[in-house]
Amino acid sequence: MTLVLKGARCVDPQVNLDSVCDILVEGTQIIAIDNSIDAPQNASVLDCSGKVILPGLMDIHVHFRDPGQEYKETIEGGCASSAHGGYTDVATMPNTSPVCDTGALVTYQIEKSRACGTARIHPIGAISHGQQQESLAEIGDMYAAGARAFSDDGRGVQTAGLMRIAMDYISQFDAVAISHCQDEFLVGSGVVNEGVVSTRLGLAGWPAQGEEIQIARDIMLSELTGCPLHIAHVSTIKGVEMVKQAKQSGLQVTCEVTPHHLFLCEDDITEDFDTNYKMNPPLRTKEDMLALQEALIDGTIDCVVSDHAPHAAHEKDYEFERAPFGIVGIETELPLILTNLVQNGKLSWSRVVQTMCINPRKILRCNPVVLKPGSEATLVVIDPQKKFTVTKDWLVSKSKNTPFLGFELTGCATDALLCGSWTLRSGSVAIQS
Ligand SMILES: [Zn+2]
Repeated sequence: MTLVLKGARCVDPQVNLDSVCDILVEGTQIIAIDNSIDAPQNASVLDCSGKVILPGLMDIHVHFRDPGQEYKETIEGGCASSAHGGYTDVATMPNTSPVCDTGALVTYQIEKSRACGTARIHPIGAISHGQQQESLAEIGDMYAAGARAFSDDGRGVQTAGLMRIAMDYISQFDAVAISHCQDEFLVGSGVVNEGVVSTRLGLAGWPAQGEEIQIARDIMLSELTGCPLHIAHVSTIKGVEMVKQAKQSGLQVTCEVTPHHLFLCEDDITEDFDTNYKMNPPLRTKEDMLALQEALIDGTIDCVVSDHAPHAAHEKDYEFERAPFGIVGIETELPLILTNLVQNGKLSWSRVVQTMCINPRKILRCNPVVLKPGSEATLVVIDPQKKFTVTKDWLVSKSKNTPFLGFELTGCATDALLCGSWTLRSGSVAIQS
């Protein structure tokens, strides 16, 4: 396919690019980027005036439930949701059934995503066999199959001893340990942030310290072992401060934040007991929420992730205490960032690229995706003015569990290319052959 994308504002700080220009794509590659490109005779032309083009987005924290819980989501459905959200690359957490703890299960996901063609999956391997935390998973085998990050996400690693052995081992590869920080003994049956709201609603509290103790521990273990560490879904002021200090002292520590922790807080949970507000870690205080926004803007937080966690309607339709944690988010992620931080000028487009394209790939040891001639044509076209309402019909994901239903948002992906093939076209997921 030969294609000219005309007149979009193209932004990529990797090559100091921020200007209105045309992009010529041939086959899988970007051939030229220039102020004005005359379309070759056989080329199709897409008018992108008023739009913004960025390198394809990457989300390094999603749950696609495949294998084992395909009634919640499948790899095909997860990849389609990714394309709808403007994402060309995603990293899947290993808490599937069976748990992704061998090279074969890493290969299974990579090959299945290749077959759908709507997004590339970069599987994250488990730290322990079956996430049972008794013995290490087949980390070398998974690395050989392509995994570059290891995590028991869904659970914190409960003993410092096992985490130390895992980090010692992971540090021998070009790979990173990802920590879901949760001390199960301290958190117990907590379902919402411990404080005013847990008291008001009479629900068991999940204290900030239940997260912060493991952040502190794993930063110390990163210092001890030299293993790069990435803190998943940081949700508190103190958590962010610890990551900041670790960075200042030269440790290889990074962290991520979700849109729900950036834009919702515990005060949003009401007597309706809407289980779409039940996530892990829980929504924290308003002060925490505002501090996370600041930390994303100032660079302390490295990347934005969705923690896309599909659950079937019958599972979320339970008492608050009994419903599972988690919400879907890969489709609303970019629109929420645009609506709440970019439209008002708090977050620059360049910082969007940094936190949603460049840093996620760096952390997961993926090849960079760059808007320059000779690079793979993997990019997203965004309409920053497009207004829409989040509805169940608008969501492509099999599961619809999100507190953002009914929200009016401004700005979303309209088109996307993965290695020169459409994955999103005029807002609809492109069907790959
Ligand atoms: Zn997690």
